[in-house]
Amino acid sequence: MQPALADALSETVAGAAYIQGPAVGKFATELGAYLGGAHVVPCANGTDALALALMSLELPASAEVIVPAFTYVATLEAAALLGLRPVLADVLPDTFNLDPAAVEAALTPRTGAIIAVHLFGQCADLEALHRVSTQHGAALIEDNAQAIGATFQFAGGATAFAGTVGEVGTTSFFPSKNLGAMGDGGALLTRDPTRAALLRQLANHGQSRKYHHQRIGLNSRLDTLQAALLRVKLPHLPAATAARQAVAARYDAALAGISGLRVPARDPRSTHVFHQYTLTVAEGRRDDLQHFLQRCGVPTMVYYPLPVHAQPAYAYLGYQAGQFPVAERLCASVLSLPVHPRLTPEQQEYIIDCVGSFFGN
Ligand SMILES: *Cc1c(COP(=O)(O)O)cnc(C)c1O
Repeated sequence: MQPALADALSETVAGAAYIQGPAVGKFATELGAYLGGAHVVPCANGTDALALALMSLELPASAEVIVPAFTYVATLEAAALLGLRPVLADVLPDTFNLDPAAVEAALTPRTGAIIAVHLFGQCADLEALHRVSTQHGAALIEDNAQAIGATFQFAGGATAFAGTVGEVGTTSFFPSKNLGAMGDGGALLTRDPTRAALLRQLANHGQSRKYHHQRIGLNSRLDTLQAALLRVKLPHLPAATAARQAVAARYDAALAGISGLRVPARDPRSTHVFHQYTLTVAEGRRDDLQHFLQRCGVPTMVYYPLPVHAQPAYAYLGYQAGQFPVAERLCASVLSLPVHPRLTPEQQEYIIDCVGSFFGN
């Protein structure tokens, strides 16, 4: 372990303030400064962050929440648990992110919120989604579990960090995320100090002060230990992001010419922090490529093998196969290659050779 991480652990143990210790507030301040001055409210994990974001909107019972059909299930799980109705919208085939036109088509008078996911590390179309949400009075929540540190440039020239554009942003410090703890962790992001105070209250049993409860809340806190570790890791995030981007650029250069696969599309308005480097493989060849790479000793993953509407838990929403064709096609054709910051050029050369030889190059 890095000595700085060991020091952070032993300092926390010496201080013994395991819940709401000083590192939690310090980490929130430091992350907020990194994200251009956003208010950061730490919580227990990225799924709780989504629940708290929705709770802070105080939507009427059974309000609708528009979510992408191609995402990790946590994006809509929180809405479903709170008795809100997830409404799916299809994604774009190139960026994998929410299709603003599909969102507009899914709007109803009951729409209370739109959850945009910045999938795999690239911002969704925040320009269009922010416009749609404002025009229709539906709150925009950004599920930023995968794109911490990514930025988006608006047509007017202004730039914003992912997670700080909508009413509330959420993120996760699950160990495999770009800013990972050594256990669970999450946070909420907002530019509005009043909403930050409300979120802080909701994450702490809805209490304004100890034993005085204004609202029904959650017990959702970031452990002091995790905050102390994250304080050590945060200053390394820009370098780790740059390392991911360099790996992605080498893949792009080596793989873009291969027919039978498509490298990840870049939206020129967004930076891409490459939580995943995700290929789209020609119809019917994805599983063969994955098995081939497995035999070469190259670990790959399919994020995600099933669209949300094909999950048994969400059958009650009543969607049919064929209703979200892009999400369905992506589930059958995406494959993520190793993109972590410590991947060596030699390891990457080997992966590239293996992919090339599968396609006969
Ligand atoms: C990881 C992730 C979450 C959930 O975060 P946890 O901290 O694991 O609860 C939510 N949404 C997306 C898109 C994620 O990738």
